[in-house]
Amino acid sequence: MTVQYDTWPFHEAQAIVDRLTDSGDPSDIDRSEDDPVIFETGFGPSGLPHIGTFAEVARTTWVQRAFEELTGHPTKLIVFSDDMDGLRKVPENVPKDDMLLENLGRPLCDVPDPFEEEESFSAYMNARLREFLETFGFDYEFRSSQDQYHDGVFDDGLERILEHYEEVRQVIVPTLREWRRDRWSPFFPKCENCGKVYTTRVTDVHPDDGTISYVCDNEPKGMVCCEHEGRVAVTGGQVKVGWKVDWALRWYTFGVDYEMYGKDLIESADLSGDIVEVLGGDPPAGFFYEMFLDEDGKKISKSVGTGLTIDEWLAYGPLESLGWFIFQNPQKATKLHFDVIPDSVDKWLEDRRDYGRAAAESDAPPADHSIWFVERDSVDAGDIPSMDSEVDYSMILNLVGALNTDDRDMLWNYLTRYDEDARGDEDVIEPMLDGALQYYRDFILPTKEYRTPGPDTLPAVRQFRDFLADYDGESAEEIQEAAYEAGKSSDAGLGDWFQAMYRLLLGQDRGPRLGTFVEMFGVSETVETIDERLSDD
Ligand SMILES: [Zn+2]
Repeated sequence: MTVQYDTWPFHEAQAIVDRLTDSGDPSDIDRSEDDPVIFETGFGPSGLPHIGTFAEVARTTWVQRAFEELTGHPTKLIVFSDDMDGLRKVPENVPKDDMLLENLGRPLCDVPDPFEEEESFSAYMNARLREFLETFGFDYEFRSSQDQYHDGVFDDGLERILEHYEEVRQVIVPTLREWRRDRWSPFFPKCENCGKVYTTRVTDVHPDDGTISYVCDNEPKGMVCCEHEGRVAVTGGQVKVGWKVDWALRWYTFGVDYEMYGKDLIESADLSGDIVEVLGGDPPAGFFYEMFLDEDGKKISKSVGTGLTIDEWLAYGPLESLGWFIFQNPQKATKLHFDVIPDSVDKWLEDRRDYGRAAAESDAPPADHSIWFVERDSVDAGDIPSMDSEVDYSMILNLVGALNTDDRDMLWNYLTRYDEDARGDEDVIEPMLDGALQYYRDFILPTKEYRTPGPDTLPAVRQFRDFLADYDGESAEEIQEAAYEAGKSSDAGLGDWFQAMYRLLLGQDRGPRLGTFVEMFGVSETVETIDERLSDD
């Protein structure tokens, strides 16, 4: 293929085409319309959904969108919750520690709901997941591990694992430490006596009648076994498969064509792919994403989910700006912290401006663009996202800082005077004002400290003030030039002089380009503010 794409979801869509065809040509996909291409994303119901869950689902749906655009072939997204997974440790921030401690090792779907709202621990988490996905309007089919096992959906795959028992073992065993090799089994029977999955050990397999023998004599950290010995069928929900094999079982059973995963799971994905081949299936096209980093640059794991929450982001910036942030190169490790919000909002707006221009010049809304993905509902409804004015988030923060006010009418006066197109973008700017004011109160105000310039910078501040008092133009360039001249004449040097100006006007060490700021804030308003703050001293 010679088509060049700018956005990563189209590269991924092409990778799926390459998997489905020898030629890489979408028109060679040999699949009927009633046979959608299957995308999958997995959820571990040991905790609440969080920003990593959102990112994985959103990114997967973007690849789906690109694939449908590229091929015209229908797709389906399966969101899979592994609620047969056992409770490994007592989670933080969840009530009823004692009850949970007793249930360590039991499948999450057999552990009571500590919140007493749903029938089990995982039912509670699954309900939260579905609410969460519905809030964002994702189109998906929900499947839980428990239902698949109990309804026999996995039976064929389970029987195949039993038939190819040694081959499956040989995929995993070489990756294990010596002492674990003999006892490793793909199967985890649920003990018929104590109900735990992590305390059992397979002692023999009987492919002839589809059963396995086990003993409950394993005691992983914090769990207590019961010594029960039994023999159960691998089908029907009494036996689950373990980590890596469960991925393979899903891929094989559902015919998954595409799944993405965090970088820490690359090896697991490769091994799962090998197991799918042992079972006679084809592994999906895969893609790994980097983990988000927290404030200190440490990885935020998908299961732990520390760091910024979605609600926290939405308190300061619109959902689309979060979408924009998540859309950026997923294979680059990015810090996910409050301080990325202003910049993300501004870059999202910049992409919106770009998209509005590009869409105006073409017959159909361009697809190979961040906005086509991030704001798909608007695009599909024919409501092309755009932004005509130059107003942005950091400008609002600076304005609030200079005015020291959250009076919205006053802020709007300044914005419309700076750019008369601002009113036309009111539907974007209004919510952005709310977020920026909140951001200002929470993060900027507490660190703010207005300072009067010292003797080494004051004369040059006065020089700049006098320039503005006599100036009747409104060119950011000319003002910037005058600022430079004043700064250079200062005894303190240019850098310290600018810092003194920001301390005087905004109460902070750094700030926007001074010429642009004065143009936006107003020349006479700047003079007034300087005079006021100098006389305060
Ligand atoms: Zn037991």
